[in-house]
Amino acid sequence: MVEGSRRAERLAPKGVKRTMERDLHGTGSDRGTMSSSEFPPIRVDLHVHTVASGHAYSTVEECARYAASKGLEAIAVADHGPAVPGGGNLYHFWNLKVLPRRWHGVWILRSVEANILDTGGRLDLPDRVLEKLDLVLAGIHPYTGYEGGSVEENTRALLAALAHPLVDVIVHPDNPNYPVDMRRLSEAAKRYGKALEVNNSSFVYTREGSDPLCREMVREVKRVGGLLAVGSDAHVATFAGEFGHAVEIIEQNDVSPQAVINYSIMRLEEFLRQRGKPLELEG
Ligand SMILES: [Zn+2]
Ligand SMILES: [Zn+2]
Repeated sequence: MVEGSRRAERLAPKGVKRTMERDLHGTGSDRGTMSSSEFPPIRVDLHVHTVASGHAYSTVEECARYAASKGLEAIAVADHGPAVPGGGNLYHFWNLKVLPRRWHGVWILRSVEANILDTGGRLDLPDRVLEKLDLVLAGIHPYTGYEGGSVEENTRALLAALAHPLVDVIVHPDNPNYPVDMRRLSEAAKRYGKALEVNNSSFVYTREGSDPLCREMVREVKRVGGLLAVGSDAHVATFAGEFGHAVEIIEQNDVSPQAVINYSIMRLEEFLRQRGKPLELEG
């Protein structure tokens, strides 16, 4: 076992550690009979907004407190990039280093939901800021410059963002307002070793019509042996760690835990290490 995994195991609660070992390495006696309903609880929320997004309503500490109460190991503070009206400014992201690494027992990951500004995949933060973050999410949002186009254009935009070396996850590619070629997107994500997001807010608050496209995405990702990320996309602390419908879709498609990069901090650490971005959780 590599050093990073050993550290993550030390950080994980005992019960979680046992579940992770069984699911990651298939050493549990029930591995062969594991049914879709036994998907382990997802312990990391990769997509949480705070007041810094301009249209979200909780602080980092409030999100951490709710995350702790739901048994999460970590949250990624992923506020909207500067192109969203009222979104985080460049200094917000540059200064995330001042956040405590752990708050209310929950690891705080420094992240962004960057905006894809054109079909060339241009993002709204410079690389010198993105490279300081633990994790970079990217996606298309209204009123940020790129207003969407044909399936070909939208797909080109997401493929270009996937090609950006610092982007780790493409968020809500199942948005029906920006339809894409899921097959090409999933194949490209697999090639780059990056994840596509199953966004739980898409089924609760926004992006109506995402459900069938999300199912298609999950099927395609599974077909190519790719990776998924699950996010609550909470804009208020009480929604942090809410993955209900996202998990339902994952379970119905029999996705293996290993294919979900954030089902535990240990799995996330492994993903980021493979991406050349080892998590430094001490300090
Ligand atoms: Zn978004
Ligand atoms: Zn979001």
